Amino acid sequence: MEDERRTSGEIDPFELLGNEQRAAIVETLGDARVEAGVRPTVSFSELRARTDLDIPSSQFNYHLQRLLGTFVEKTPDGYRMRVEGRLVYQALRAGTFDRAGPTSTHDLHVDCYYCDGTLKATFEDAVATVACGDCEHLYEILGVPPAVLAADTDDAVERFVGHCLQKRFAFANGDCPTCSAAVGTELHRAPGLPFDDDETAVVRIYRLCENCGDQFYLSLGEALLYDPAVVSFCLERGLDVVTAPSWEIPFAATDRSVALPSEEPLRLSLTVELAGDELELVVDESLSVVERNRR
Ligand SMILES: [Zn+2]
Ligand SMILES: [Zn+2]
Repeated sequence: MEDERRTSGEIDPFELLGNEQRAAIVETLGDARVEAGVRPTVSFSELRARTDLDIPSSQFNYHLQRLLGTFVEKTPDGYRMRVEGRLVYQALRAGTFDRAGPTSTHDLHVDCYYCDGTLKATFEDAVATVACGDCEHLYEILGVPPAVLAADTDDAVERFVGHCLQKRFAFANGDCPTCSAAVGTELHRAPGLPFDDDETAVVRIYRLCENCGDQFYLSLGEALLYDPAVVSFCLERGLDVVTAPSWEIPFAATDRSVALPSEEPLRLSLTVELAGDELELVVDESLSVVERNRR
């Protein structure tokens, strides 16, 4: 896969930006865009002055020319970032931070589904976990961008929840949140599910982006959270599943609402119970909904 990608096109983005001078040019154009709020055009002399590299004009021009058509484009007024350059700049900015920040723990004010304890979020070395403070059952584990960890204490939980919702929404819909490629679907059945010591666990949906490597494990409840019938059924009964984190949604936080009504053909069901009413969704192995039943 690695080799195929490298040789399938003429241009290797890792090689292009592996050069310090070229990376600096992309950074300058990215900074200019952040300052201007639009996609500004920068003249050659201004770009060279702002990038502040101690190299002759001809050498600067050589590196700039190598970026043309990939990360940078030339217009009659000067140079500006292409969309590809912006994506690289944003990814580098999003991933730049001091990983040695302090560990912090935040009370989420949500009861554990397995004991009398309450849930806590812990941010440590760019990884966030949500787990019970007593029985230590793990509800969520996720790499977090620095903007989450840099937020002040109260805001950090809000940033983290927002990050979880974005990831969950994209992966539940089969899209990679990082590069927007389609993600694959694998059903992992109990026993032996990763990150799970829950004896009621039935299945995890593993979604992997083969383009950029982003990946996520969803419960069946999480994977079906944005089904229009689920969204409206819950909203009519006072639960907004679109904005609530998974650990606040009982049928997403545990597999107690999940059953396996058929092996051949494979069928999985999710029963959402709220305010005395029931909505059951039955899906096939591709997670397509084959039945919606109201009781
Ligand atoms: Zn617990
Ligand atoms: Zn991706």
